[in-house]
Amino acid sequence: MEFDDRFMQAQRTKFDCLLFDLDDTLYPYSSGIATACRINIEDYMVEKLGIDRSIIPELGNLLYKNYGTTMAGLRAIGYDFDYDEYHSFVHGRLPYENIKPDPVLRSLLLNLPYRKIIFTNADQIHAAKALSRLGLEDIFEGIICFETLNPIHKNTVSDDEDDIEFVGLSSTTTTTSSSQIFDIIGHFATANPTSKLPKTPIVCKPSEDAIERALKIANINPQRTLFFEDSVRNIQAGKRVGLQTVLVGTSQRVKGADYALESIHNLREAIPELWEADRKSKVGYSGKVAVETSVTA
Ligand SMILES: [Mg+2]
Repeated sequence: MEFDDRFMQAQRTKFDCLLFDLDDTLYPYSSGIATACRINIEDYMVEKLGIDRSIIPELGNLLYKNYGTTMAGLRAIGYDFDYDEYHSFVHGRLPYENIKPDPVLRSLLLNLPYRKIIFTNADQIHAAKALSRLGLEDIFEGIICFETLNPIHKNTVSDDEDDIEFVGLSSTTTTTSSSQIFDIIGHFATANPTSKLPKTPIVCKPSEDAIERALKIANINPQRTLFFEDSVRNIQAGKRVGLQTVLVGTSQRVKGADYALESIHNLREAIPELWEADRKSKVGYSGKVAVETSVTA
């Protein structure tokens, strides 16, 4: 049955799933959320981890660049902290009122007859709040978030995919045995560093492993999935694992991006083939038609 549905769908369209990043993808960077978040992360590093404010810009930049998120980098170089506390500190004070309801986007998404899934490095509470502010809380089949890829009680993610929940669990404090902090600034200041960069226990984009895990958890075929992202490096990682990619936030395509949209609102003009399924499904097929493709405009 499932195979038949997939076969029918393959005849109709290029895609069967839309995978969306959340922040700066479903709402614009101009909301100021990203800037506020960066300031909160810097305050957390100073106030909670005791890091000297003078090195924060350089340190934050190195961590973000090398580990995907500042949080993943902080854990890698030896800081230990409660994930929930971190998330509530950096997200709890965000100006969520800047994220406005988006009925235009809601209507666009409702009329697209594909699976729709969120894939964000942020935590579940933030994702739920942002989606609710946008008025999109009921649009998506699932949310793959921080907790999904970094389940409770694990410092390192096990290879057993069966115990990873699709919609995440709450995280808890993890422990780091070493109290030594790796000097990443010193590492990069050295011409030929002898030390190796430590690994992070946190799984997040743009690691290909994180993306592949997300695809497996949500049972997504990358070849038939469009991945929407504002981050170029996430787009490029997505491309490497076989996703079809849409860079959001600029109309300038970059290497690794199959499409580029100034705004998610430009979906219809930029990717008209997304509406092919809808048009064709109205022509009608005898026999089985996948339930999700029977949704019409
Ligand atoms: Mg983003």
